[in-house]
Amino acid sequence: MSTNKTARSAADAREPTRTGLSKDTLVQAFGDNLFYVQGRFREVATPYDLFLAAAYTVRDRMLERWIKSARTYKERNSRTVAYLSAEFLIGPQLGLNMVKLGITEAAQEAAQELDLDLTAILETEEEPGLGNGGLGRLAACYMDSMATLQIPAIGYGIRYEFGIFDQQIIDGWQVEKGDTWLRNGNPWEIHRPKICFPIGFGGHTEQYTDSAGISRTRWMPALVVNGVAYDTPIPGYGVNNVNLLRLWKSEAPESFDFQAFNTGNYYGAVHAKIEAETISKVLYPNDDPEVGKELRLKQQFFFVSCSLRDMIRLELSNTGTLEQFHQKFAIQLNDTHPSLAVAELMRLLVDEHLMPWEQAWEITQQACHFTNHTLLPEALETWPIDLFERLLPRHLDIIYQINANFLDQVRVKFFEDDERVRRLSLIDENNGRRVRMAHLAAVGSCAINGVAELHSELLKSTVMQDFHAMVPERFHNVTNGVTPRRFMVLSNPRLATLITEICGDNQWVRQLDHLSALEPHADDSNLQERWQAVKTAAKTDLSNWLGQETGITPDPNSLFDIQAKRIHEYKRQHLNLLHILALYEQIKTHGCDSIVPRTFIFGGKAAPGYYMAKLIIKLINAVGEVINHDPAVNGALRVIFMPDFNVKRAQRLYPAADLSEQISLAGKEASGTGNMKFSMNGALTIGTLDGANVEIREEVGAENFFLFGMTAAEVQQRQAAGYDPYAIYSTDEPIKSLIDLIASGLFSHGDTELFKPLVENLMHHDPFMVLADFRAYLKCQQQVAKVYQNAHNWQRMSILNVARIGKFSSDRAIQEYAERIWQIKPEPVSL
Ligand SMILES: *Cc1c(COP(=O)(O)O)cnc(C)c1O
Repeated sequence: MSTNKTARSAADAREPTRTGLSKDTLVQAFGDNLFYVQGRFREVATPYDLFLAAAYTVRDRMLERWIKSARTYKERNSRTVAYLSAEFLIGPQLGLNMVKLGITEAAQEAAQELDLDLTAILETEEEPGLGNGGLGRLAACYMDSMATLQIPAIGYGIRYEFGIFDQQIIDGWQVEKGDTWLRNGNPWEIHRPKICFPIGFGGHTEQYTDSAGISRTRWMPALVVNGVAYDTPIPGYGVNNVNLLRLWKSEAPESFDFQAFNTGNYYGAVHAKIEAETISKVLYPNDDPEVGKELRLKQQFFFVSCSLRDMIRLELSNTGTLEQFHQKFAIQLNDTHPSLAVAELMRLLVDEHLMPWEQAWEITQQACHFTNHTLLPEALETWPIDLFERLLPRHLDIIYQINANFLDQVRVKFFEDDERVRRLSLIDENNGRRVRMAHLAAVGSCAINGVAELHSELLKSTVMQDFHAMVPERFHNVTNGVTPRRFMVLSNPRLATLITEICGDNQWVRQLDHLSALEPHADDSNLQERWQAVKTAAKTDLSNWLGQETGITPDPNSLFDIQAKRIHEYKRQHLNLLHILALYEQIKTHGCDSIVPRTFIFGGKAAPGYYMAKLIIKLINAVGEVINHDPAVNGALRVIFMPDFNVKRAQRLYPAADLSEQISLAGKEASGTGNMKFSMNGALTIGTLDGANVEIREEVGAENFFLFGMTAAEVQQRQAAGYDPYAIYSTDEPIKSLIDLIASGLFSHGDTELFKPLVENLMHHDPFMVLADFRAYLKCQQQVAKVYQNAHNWQRMSILNVARIGKFSSDRAIQEYAERIWQIKPEPVSL
């Protein structure tokens, strides 16, 4: 009691309760927020009350910076990035915001004084799962880096009421559960009911002649919904800049109920209200778009239109004209999901702001930039024309006009090459007439980029070959990156502390290439031992937590071999499984002492409709069930499926990995970012020459990377020559016996039908060439085991991985976008 009193009066004398950063002020502010915001005493506060009080305490400290940032950007009319993304997988905010404000230590001391368990409070936070995986997580890392680099930016997206489903494992199968992340309240967002735009759907278009005698088009939508802004602050690390993440929620316009009341159509009004609110209700849980899902196209148009109208509002309030719109905003389209921005910006400029078409096109094209994220043909988004016509009739007109103008240019450049015209058209005429969203984005953007060097090259030679021939100067590469604030400082504090000690300061947190200061110490056996102790501590933490979560507590001295990412055939979790089965067979024939003890950990969600991915999850669990309980194995082998892989859980995995599995078929993974997070935390990579693996290997050195498998070129050749997996199966003895083992029913209580679809697929189709790469993979894994036995050498390689990983900071990626694509400069904010 008496300590509290002194702390309070001392704080009063020193700094304001809502902005001060000292321990004493935090203690007071926490108590005030618990009482005045939550209306709770400590004695009756629930764990979530405590979290909310902590969150409001941290949020208070960001608000002044946030307002100052907005004011600074407005006063200087700063060029601003508008990052349009259907997904932002931002993860829990409390711990990260404390890191960025530099108050982690003060908060720990405050918690101690209040007799609170800060770790437990952090654990209480529910993460906003507003993304599927890598693409949404990339958007979140980029928001972090833009704020840290002091680049004015607004992230625009959708405030899904239900994010990515929670994954439960029941009887080895994935079961999806709705993600009710908002049920206890979200302290980070601020609802802005006045920032609200009416968004139309359907209806028809009308021609009219304006007072100047100019013929114009008007869209008369049949349905209108409101898009309302919810704002989340995104602070930079160690700077005053706080940027804005603005997510849109759909609501029925108020007039609805009233209208219906008058006409007596009460149920009709209720239905319309539900229909309006459905738009931002749920995230589509697919990595790649499902064909023809009308609601998804509605979601895309909804958030794109809200965002563009918001930008137009800001620009008009600042300058009163839209003539410099493209100088004010650099719009980045994160994949094809926001491609409609091209058509919608044209409509807003031409129809609503009465700009001549040519000028509007100039502005649109100069404002937009497009990031392509995939080479998988099935993931290239297209929409049926008739759906477009029904939902967005005016936009279809505009797309036809853009297409006609563009194809005229194609005909000029490639005289009468009709085949090329067909390939480049925004309309695919071969599959029942569909709009090609990647083409719309590419035609409407002044820059197009891939997300790793290999991917950008493959884009130019495959899916965007014709565009590249048409406008080669628009093509760029920006290799992805991840934020070291979340994936090192926050999630691996022991490693961060050790690195800071060796480097002499913590500049590496904002200048990740400073990690190279570790390099001269890689041979220092004292450091190697401390490095290993840090890793073992993280493995012990994970092991204990897995014990609670799954009932299996692996030995922290075993090699932790982790594959955590969406479950997808191209990512080849089943290749990993075949290696596990090979080790199991070895134990069965040569005893458990014949292998280096390993713990295999898998994590990842499967799209609910992706049957083969779900069967792979079942197989992982079934194999684990047998191996983990086989006395002959005696703990030398563990196979654990960690349920519900998300950002929060990812943060437990990366620090604890010895080996990172990045084993996709070469040419299929655009970049990958999990590969970077693992390596940053000292895991060595076993991987193919795919995505950013290529560059990671270049950076860390071939001798510190376990490479196997065909190159992208070899994959193409092999496929062209006619790939026959059955020939491999029938002639390659270890492969045959491993596949037969799955088919035998050993892992399915004698049921030989259960895994048949998987087995048959591998033997007869094997679209991702698991069998073709298996031998090389097995051999490489044997090499891994051999190297792991020399602990000092392994730690040396681990230190070198971290020392040379600087390139893969999202700060470097954002720097490249800023200089080469957006032409935008930092705008420092002072308090
Ligand atoms: C980084 C991350 C991913 C992406 O992993 P890849 O290995 O690049 O596919 C997916 N999900 C979460 C939660 C992540 O943090």
